Amino acid sequence: MTIKTSKTANRSPIKFYTLGGSNGVGKHSLFFKLKNLNVLIDPGIQSNTDGVDVRKKNFDKLDAILLTHAHIDHIGALIAVMENHPQVRVYCTAATKMLVEQAFNKRPDISPPNLDLFMKRIYAMKYKDAFCLGRGIDISFIHAGHILGSASIIINTPEGNYLVTGDFATEARGLLHPFIAPDLDLRGLISEGSLVGHNFPSATRGQDHFLGEVGRLIENNQQIILPTDCLSVFQEMAIIISQEQTKGKFPDCPIFINNWLKDSFSAYAEHSSSLFLARENSKKIGWNFMVLEPFYSGSNPESLGRFCYFAGPAHLKRSFPKDFAGKIVEQGGVMVTDSRLSSSQVKKRVLPQRKMKGNIAQLKCSNHISGADLSSLIEQMRPENVVLIHGQKHALGRFGRKLSMPSSVAEIGEEIKL
Ligand SMILES: [Zn+2]
Ligand SMILES: [Zn+2]
Repeated sequence: MTIKTSKTANRSPIKFYTLGGSNGVGKHSLFFKLKNLNVLIDPGIQSNTDGVDVRKKNFDKLDAILLTHAHIDHIGALIAVMENHPQVRVYCTAATKMLVEQAFNKRPDISPPNLDLFMKRIYAMKYKDAFCLGRGIDISFIHAGHILGSASIIINTPEGNYLVTGDFATEARGLLHPFIAPDLDLRGLISEGSLVGHNFPSATRGQDHFLGEVGRLIENNQQIILPTDCLSVFQEMAIIISQEQTKGKFPDCPIFINNWLKDSFSAYAEHSSSLFLARENSKKIGWNFMVLEPFYSGSNPESLGRFCYFAGPAHLKRSFPKDFAGKIVEQGGVMVTDSRLSSSQVKKRVLPQRKMKGNIAQLKCSNHISGADLSSLIEQMRPENVVLIHGQKHALGRFGRKLSMPSSVAEIGEEIKL
């Protein structure tokens, strides 16, 4: 445990503002004034319902952009902000850089030559390597345990150390290096609390339950379709199932994915050396995935035997293989969803004309820190100030009041001094 020795009285504070939504999962963007450096951590999503449009944000100057991870609610507005600030450089981990490129590659409004120019302005940093932004301000990325490439950011200033967690998870789920509290005297902690107030099982319990349930269905020779987003916990589960199969700990079956998910699976494979899994298993990571669609989309699932089919996007629209999914469920297979859509929404989207036989299972898994874990982490880190963001405002507020140390919930656009 770190013992605080410093006094804050004579030190000037750092200031930050939350832009584009601190009070709700999604739309994560923070604007820092560090000495006379202006630094944006995550541009957030391009347009959002909070009435804050970061494209129109008029930063008088912007010196650097730092990215925590490549979820769209954090990077959606990246290209728009880079366009408005043609000199600004972007820093993130190597895997995040690759995922950013994949995300913007899919966007029709950005031409490939233009995307190349933007990518040249994004600098891939190694975990734990500190780099200087100028004015005695050092930055380093540490593992956040949330998705491939995800990072928490340590800001080291002459006035003290600050930690911006981004989305993070402290529980080791096996695939990613979990977030580990840095051994630092922390003047300020800006932490996400997406799961504060939510009734989610702990990450490892959620994972065990998922593997147990899906494994049992496969043992019973079921065909399973799992609606999955890129960079979601279910995608993580697909890799873990594949790994467990190589160890003989999960029943054998093909793991199919659809074309829509292919790139993000390749990103995990390409950056596998940065995974916790790689440390544990050296090069023996199983990547037993087959892209099922579009090749089989016209065929009858019955001919395929038992399988797990991870298919995106999870909202079941656009590229999601609706017809094939419908056939699987109609023939007695099971659709396993996360808890975002209700089973009636699932029915409406996948089987509008047909009678559903009730083969929809919902499994809750998470890659965020839970409220209970967050309070023990704060206790362990003993920061002088805690600011909570990126969760539900009322839940964060209640949580903050329960903490025994100074804490607050950031309001959008409010200036916060730490
Ligand atoms: Zn987020
Ligand atoms: Zn995220």
